Amino acid sequence: MEFRDAETPIAPTTWYVLARQSGDNGYDRAMLSPARDFNEAFCTLAVGEWSPVINVKLKMADGKEEEGFFRCKLIELSDDAEDFRLYISSIGPRTGISNPPEIMAELVSAEGINGNSGGIIGYALEWYDLNTFVEINEFYSQYMADCACALMTKHEWDLFFMHAHAPDWAYHMILTEMDPDLNKDKDKLKAAWDAHLRIYQAQDKMLAQILGVLDKDTLVITVSDHGAVPDGPAIDPYKMLGPAGLTVLSEKQIDFANVGDIKGRAQGLIEEFKVAFQTPDVNKSKCFPQRAIYIYVNLKGRDPEGIVDPKDYKAVQQQIIDALLTYVDPETGKRPVSLALTKQDARILGLYGDHVGDVVYAVYPWFSGQHANILPAAEWGVGNLKALLTFTGPGIKKSYRLQRTCNLIDIVPTICYLMDLPVPSTVDGAVLYQLFKNPDFKSDEIGKLRAGLARMETALQRGERQPWDKHECA
Ligand SMILES: [Zn+2]
Repeated sequence: MEFRDAETPIAPTTWYVLARQSGDNGYDRAMLSPARDFNEAFCTLAVGEWSPVINVKLKMADGKEEEGFFRCKLIELSDDAEDFRLYISSIGPRTGISNPPEIMAELVSAEGINGNSGGIIGYALEWYDLNTFVEINEFYSQYMADCACALMTKHEWDLFFMHAHAPDWAYHMILTEMDPDLNKDKDKLKAAWDAHLRIYQAQDKMLAQILGVLDKDTLVITVSDHGAVPDGPAIDPYKMLGPAGLTVLSEKQIDFANVGDIKGRAQGLIEEFKVAFQTPDVNKSKCFPQRAIYIYVNLKGRDPEGIVDPKDYKAVQQQIIDALLTYVDPETGKRPVSLALTKQDARILGLYGDHVGDVVYAVYPWFSGQHANILPAAEWGVGNLKALLTFTGPGIKKSYRLQRTCNLIDIVPTICYLMDLPVPSTVDGAVLYQLFKNPDFKSDEIGKLRAGLARMETALQRGERQPWDKHECA
């Protein structure tokens, strides 16, 4: 076994596969076993069949033993056993990734696995089909639901939050195939939409299970941090900045030759990686692209190999913006960049502080991948970047669709306001008042309390008066 990318190195391990014939039609079953012993086998599978959740004790490279869990699926087994593919999911740990450590013992799911990255790497490498990719995400969503319910039913809690990633992985893999303008293959189009439906059904099932353990006074919020659009032509900021004399690529670049002969969907991913991991020549570049939406000026005094004099900072910012906004993609004849602002102007987007690049830019939705460098209200084809936001609970309007713009940063202050929690010092957002059945409920409540307090004070003052003060009461 080669446990690639294991979080903790695992000792050299050998597992065994035995192909068997259950009838007279050739090989049709495969067993996976940690030893050459029939009785110790993890599972016996027919083609297309998933194993149950398998618990395994693994010898680690440091000599310790760790427990893990996984599922596997027999993808292919030909009659003569010449063609054979067995998918073994990522192996989830039973300890070591929780705080407090002992809480991991409660995070057990009968059917679910914590399918690493939703199985996108295996799907992109065409190890298995779309159906198997969806199944991995169904198991992952089941695992999340079981863990969430275990935590909320076994413990007292005030605030519970979790992150579920299946829709994001799915859109990266299938959204382009869901678009009838980009995918003319009717069968593939239907398969992509069917997979899309199943991904959402798995999310619904997860939500239903979680809602089932909550009492009716619980405030429930679902929120996504972005939407998605289909694939457009890839963009490469070095192609925009290089001709303007702003960047120079290093002679030494990462060698992608050793990734081997990558076929299918993964070819596109590798092309994206090649662009994302380009290395600039730091001694000759006035700026560098960083993290999808930023260009940093290579500033003297701030950056280790800075070459731009601080007095030229603003001029270089302007040159970067001009290069980005005037660049025309030679293949499409279109300008990819939809917005480019100096860091100082980017305050109108809510971006400021030490972690923001010197120029902020975005591209049109018909360029680039699903999200990250596209403006948050952009639309293209079957997709758009708008995020989902729902509130359910006491005092919240029912079946009401907010028309106003909501920002992610508004969620924390809204929760604090509704639940009388102290507001964190870093809060930038505002309360989403329009969600409430009575937007003035807080001031109404304070008004009532003040009136009650005033009556009480009056009553107290009366109680304190002595009989000889009576004449003052007229
Ligand atoms: Zn994503």
